[in-house]
Amino acid sequence: MAGRFAPSPTSALHLGNLRTAVVAWLMAVGTGREFRLRIEDLDTTRVRAASSVAEQQLADLAAIGISFDGAVVWQSQRLDAYADALAELDTYPCYCTRAEIAEAASAPHGDGYRPYPGTCLRLSAQRRAELAATRPPALRVRANSAISTVHDQWAGEVTGVVDDFVVVRNDGVPAYNLAVVVDDLAMDIDQVVRGDDLLSSSPRQAWLARQLGGIAPDYAHVPLAVNSDGRRLAKRDGAVTLADLAAIGVDPAQSLSRIAVSLELAEPDEPVSLPKLLSRFDPSALPRTPWVVA
Ligand code: GLU
Repeated sequence: MAGRFAPSPTSALHLGNLRTAVVAWLMAVGTGREFRLRIEDLDTTRVRAASSVAEQQLADLAAIGISFDGAVVWQSQRLDAYADALAELDTYPCYCTRAEIAEAASAPHGDGYRPYPGTCLRLSAQRRAELAATRPPALRVRANSAISTVHDQWAGEVTGVVDDFVVVRNDGVPAYNLAVVVDDLAMDIDQVVRGDDLLSSSPRQAWLARQLGGIAPDYAHVPLAVNSDGRRLAKRDGAVTLADLAAIGVDPAQSLSRIAVSLELAEPDEPVSLPKLLSRFDPSALPRTPWVVA
């Protein structure tokens, strides 16, 4: 039994990411679980452009006192595991471009996700051969519009229709939704704590976990950090990474204290440690609104 934190090493962790890591640690350790770290570095173009970001992320997590059990898992070293999982799934090639899906699909969901309308499932052999000569396909898993329900610590029961989502991108890279599920199963993760932008992916991922013979984890989606305009926090929003903050004289202990205040686990400027926060932590009392980082 374990929880985990799974950053993508494309840019430095900001206060919102670090806060999610703190909540994930509190949830895992507070329930007697191990806490694991996985680096989601499959998107090689974006990761290469940001080399050494993963090392900085590891250093920043250590600087606020988060430690992990077991070895760090790097997704780029697990391609065989994704290939093995794929062999167990009923998949089909999809030649649709983003624009074609936008045209054929129903309106996007609130999170911008467009359920796949199944166009390439119904191709004639001749049409499929024609398309295969023009572009490389993505692979989609056949879900037959399954209904999937997950349990989230704060959102309660969340039900979604599972579309035929992408499991291998058309550049050959295993898709996020495949890798995350294969890894969570392999790492014995039974508690997934992460930003609430991923809440709507969880019925899809839970369905895939069951398809692969596993059990869906418990979920806990944490409200995101936002800037003063209410938009998702980003690097351009000022001093939001530990490096930015250090440059203006704020040390990691003070940043942890600020995160603790946002979680209503400390008074302003109170020195804190993760064990101290754990002794005060009550998941049901966690603030449920986005954290406005000035
Ligand atoms: N790598 C994803 C991110 O950084 C998180 C994936 C997950 O926690 O399931 O947003």
